[in-house]
Amino acid sequence: MTDPNCIFCKIASGQIPSACVFQDETAFAFLDIGPLAEGHVLLIPREHYQTLDQMPPDVAGRLLGRLPALVKAAVEAAGAEGVNVLQNNGKAASQEVPHVHFHVIPRRAGDAFRFNWPASKYPPGRMEELAKAIREKL
Ligand code: 5GP
Ligand code: ZN
Repeated sequence: MTDPNCIFCKIASGQIPSACVFQDETAFAFLDIGPLAEGHVLLIPREHYQTLDQMPPDVAGRLLGRLPALVKAAVEAAGAEGVNVLQNNGKAASQEVPHVHFHVIPRRAGDAFRFNWPASKYPPGRMEELAKAIREKL
């Protein structure tokens, strides 16, 4: 299913132009209009799902199957040395476009892209408590 009001559905169907780099029956990949680095690509499913948890596992599996070749191509074409793959879900996680997408961001040492990565520590017992809670949900 697609959403007629969704900008990424419109891009995948060709209603809105994009710099497409790959497409097949499952997936569509195109250059991000606001790149965090040269060669920043977005990989999206053709079907409309707002967030990753809403995707059927087989569709998610097919979509992710396209990622390794895309990562390799973007890194090589951009002359990069590494790559970040990011995937935001929900406003709290900085998702602006509510159609699942993977950011493929080629990286070079010393480039302008910076993570805010505020690594912390668990108080005693909290890590085991959270692991148990997650196991019980799976
Ligand atoms: P999010 O914050 O939802 O994870 O990322 C959405 C991304 O989509 C942003 O990096 C933004 O630059 C990109 N984007 C939004 N609208 C368009 C568009 O119309 N065309 C293209 N190519 N990228 C877009
Ligand atoms: Zn959509």
